[in-house]
Amino acid sequence: MSEEKSLNFIEEIVEEDLRTGKHGGRVLTRFPPEPNGYLHIGHAKSICLNFGLAQQYNGKTNLRFDDTNPVTEDTEYVESIKKDIQWLGFQWAEELYTSDYFETLYSYAVELIKKGLAYVDDSTAEEIAAAKGTPTEPGVPTPYRDRSVTENLALFADMRAGKYKDGEKVLRAKIDLASPNMHLRDPLLYRIKHAHHHRTGNQWCIYPMYDFAHGQSDSIEKITHSICTLEFIPHRPLYDWCIDKLEIFPSKQYEFARLNMTYTVMSKRKLLQLVNEKFVESWDDPRMPTISGLRRRGYTPASIRNFCDKIGVQKRENMIDVSLLEFCIREDLNKTAWRRMAVLDPIKLVITNYPDGQIEDLVGENNPEVEGGEGSRIIPFSKELWIERDDFMEDAPKKFFRLGPGLSVRLKHAYIVTCNDFVKDENGKVTEVHCTYVPNSKSGEDTSGLKVKGTIHWISVPHAKEAEVRLYDRLFNDENPAAAENFKESINPASLHIVERAFIEPDLANATPGKGYQFIRLGYFTLDTHSTPEHLVFNRTVTLKDSWGKEVKKNG
Ligand code: ATP
Ligand code: MG
Repeated sequence: MSEEKSLNFIEEIVEEDLRTGKHGGRVLTRFPPEPNGYLHIGHAKSICLNFGLAQQYNGKTNLRFDDTNPVTEDTEYVESIKKDIQWLGFQWAEELYTSDYFETLYSYAVELIKKGLAYVDDSTAEEIAAAKGTPTEPGVPTPYRDRSVTENLALFADMRAGKYKDGEKVLRAKIDLASPNMHLRDPLLYRIKHAHHHRTGNQWCIYPMYDFAHGQSDSIEKITHSICTLEFIPHRPLYDWCIDKLEIFPSKQYEFARLNMTYTVMSKRKLLQLVNEKFVESWDDPRMPTISGLRRRGYTPASIRNFCDKIGVQKRENMIDVSLLEFCIREDLNKTAWRRMAVLDPIKLVITNYPDGQIEDLVGENNPEVEGGEGSRIIPFSKELWIERDDFMEDAPKKFFRLGPGLSVRLKHAYIVTCNDFVKDENGKVTEVHCTYVPNSKSGEDTSGLKVKGTIHWISVPHAKEAEVRLYDRLFNDENPAAAENFKESINPASLHIVERAFIEPDLANATPGKGYQFIRLGYFTLDTHSTPEHLVFNRTVTLKDSWGKEVKKNG
């Protein structure tokens, strides 16, 4: 980081703990995903925060799969999560699973029962909810609250042994039915669920609730700073209560504002719907805000880390403009992307005075942004070229610095050409533009003395490779789709535009997914992961400029 930055509130807490020697100078954070979906850009914020803190203060970060809900979890998700974290550039100290602690958590629950701090309740979910009261009215005990320790121990053992059906009984903490904090009104600790678990199989039919699993897992691992999002603030007293009553390692919970981004939904549940209902192709569809989608789209790890750094860590909910994410990838690709030419909407340009059959191998630097250009590639030039249809106008207005009858333009890396003529088909559509070139105007060795205002890109017809090019727009038209009753109503029907037959430089046949290319004047692109040598597919990562910002200004 170049500029001096003041500490965020979590860094302040960590530094204070280091100063007072609270954990003997130790910093151990964790990233605790539930393996029920792919990671999204919101998770990246949490990853950068947790792993970043550890890096900053010589600490470590555990990766803990919070797998207490057997129904929605899957090993496919575990693998994708690991891949995404590593791709972002982070490495965990230990790979752990809450399910590894099931036996310990069970013994903790037994301990609470023995201390008279937990009881088995036979009430239905509705009965429990009704007896809980409201924020303004205290709850009332259910008939099971004062069961004896012996009875509770026996019933809890029977729950584990599989004597009861789902929902027949629960284990609850015995705290305070009048607490102003609803989470302390005898919260559920265990529920019965006869379901196959992706790691423990059929070994268990009772599963700990988040509130009983999370803090205790932190404590088992001796996590020093357990960082989560703001909605867990009301859970914190319960987090502390469990640790206090069990007299185990005192991990502490700290909360920060989750990432919300315009034109984006972030919850895994909603993203799963987009996949299942085929609004997108898959979890890694380049329009998805998932890490895997962003990767396939052409985002770099550095751009995402930089984005997370820029948005910072707040204590209050806010909404980040998605343009900031786009700014970060543009900033990165402008420095790193290799320059190439591609024509998306081709029209043929014939240079009438260029010798038939002549080919020139022009040379173009890969990356003019760095010294030495990172090498160069050959760009074949010949008599017939593809140019963009909208670089020609039959009746060009005054400020049109491209081609039209009588107009001159420079062909990038090549010559100045002047348009003399054009050909139309029977529908009046222009099919060919005829030009003459100025032989001594070649880029780099131009002695013509001519000045032209515009430069256009092109591809030599006999050398052109074909590719499918996918142009993406925002997946939602609504700035805050998640706030709507049905977020799917604002899905942008034009979020994907496919150019089936674009022409690209021959060198682009060597492209690899993840390597960024600037197709000059068109944007930044990368090879799609499903591309094949027989059918090349490129994804547009982002346009060269923020066209949306301009739209908004124009219309607003
Ligand atoms: P979702 O609602 O998308 O399913 P989640 O919070 O249930 O998210 P988890 O897998 O439980 O997802 O989250 C792992 C970690 O990532 C948690 O610590 C969580 O607080 C954090 N996290 C999730 N979403 C965001 C977000 N939008 N911004 C910041 N952190 C997030
Ligand atoms: Mg969750």
